[in-house]
Amino acid sequence: MADLVTNDSRIAAIIQKETRRQESTLNLIASENTVSRSVLAAQGSILTNKYAEGYPSRRYYGGCDFVDQAEDLAIARAKELFGAQYVNVQPHSGSQANMAVYFALLEPGDRILAMDLTHGGHLTHGAAASFSGRMFQFSHYGLSADTQTIDMDQVADLAKTFQPALIVAGASAYPRIIDFKKFADIAASVGAHLMVDMAHIAGLVAAGVHPTPVGHADVITSTTHKTLRGPRGGLILGSDTFARKINSQIFPGIQGGPLMHVIAAKAVAFHEALQPGFVQYQKQVVKNAAVLAAALMNRGYKLVSDGTDNHMVLVDLTRNGFSGKEAEERLGSADIIVNKNTVPNEKKGPFVTSGIRIGVSLVTSRGMKEDAVKTMAGYICDVLDDTSAVKKTGPLVADLCRQYPLYAGDC
Ligand code: PLP
Repeated sequence: MADLVTNDSRIAAIIQKETRRQESTLNLIASENTVSRSVLAAQGSILTNKYAEGYPSRRYYGGCDFVDQAEDLAIARAKELFGAQYVNVQPHSGSQANMAVYFALLEPGDRILAMDLTHGGHLTHGAAASFSGRMFQFSHYGLSADTQTIDMDQVADLAKTFQPALIVAGASAYPRIIDFKKFADIAASVGAHLMVDMAHIAGLVAAGVHPTPVGHADVITSTTHKTLRGPRGGLILGSDTFARKINSQIFPGIQGGPLMHVIAAKAVAFHEALQPGFVQYQKQVVKNAAVLAAALMNRGYKLVSDGTDNHMVLVDLTRNGFSGKEAEERLGSADIIVNKNTVPNEKKGPFVTSGIRIGVSLVTSRGMKEDAVKTMAGYICDVLDDTSAVKKTGPLVADLCRQYPLYAGDC
């Protein structure tokens, strides 16, 4: 940071303030995590200087010997981690991974069946505001009214009547295990391809604490920065069948030069995820989420599907008389960071919502185990129950953050 402080004190100060914010708040955003110093070092490295359009050993630029090695290593490690035949580590983001797959497998106007945004799907699963909703015809499945788990009968019915060319399984806000085999069977029964977007659960899949889509899906997309705990970016996995088409849709289809510093950081994250400690970490994530779910329900809060199998819970505040936005703000004033989220049969708009999404990946990276999570759940309920609790809870949150520093050991 020394050079930055001297050369651009304003940005240096912003980074320092953000570092303090991250250290002194309980970050429960389900799509975030905190990367190791090694990932930071690779991402902040001189590899950012290098243009490397193309793929290893087939570049449009000279001087790519070493970045080729970094990309080859990232690919080999991701293959080992997920047991996949084909890997592309170049997508700049999860959205671009999804875009490249749609473009590789489909023509504009083709039909896609995916999860409804208000039931937990992602914008790239057909929201009108996204390229996906503008370029393809979508039909959406959702959660069953009684169990609030994915309504597989509805998926099968819609597949039959809508005849999609592609079915997408995967979500941004879904706390339960997804049955990839059932999705694959339904896709096969109507001659559709299956794409699994495992952005949220990639870390759990890598550690074997959520069933893998490998072997069921034609193509799998992901981000690398959520439960997988790598740098911000995207990833595509699959069999060799679609490799050429997908590679050419990433480059030159929708991207130019790959971000070689990010690809090196992805390689580091995959190496970390291959260590036994990563399995322990993900097992702890699942335990912590279950403890959080039980604690919230004990205090009378309604959770979508009445619990969780993964790293997140979704609190449905419809009966509580305040919105997701208000809950996010209340908790934020006690330095507990969550995000407002739509719930099934949402009546409010996306900037207000009736729910909040709470994830434990990051606090688990900080070393929190069941007892600390119980304590934290108590703080969450205190503040949600009564706004005046913020005054008392704020300093307790600060204490908890000091007990579990961001970089206690490396993640
Ligand atoms: N797919 C899912 C299921 C997601 O939850 C997200 C991000 O939240 C994405 C794709 C998009 O990832 P990115 O923000 O990197 O474009």
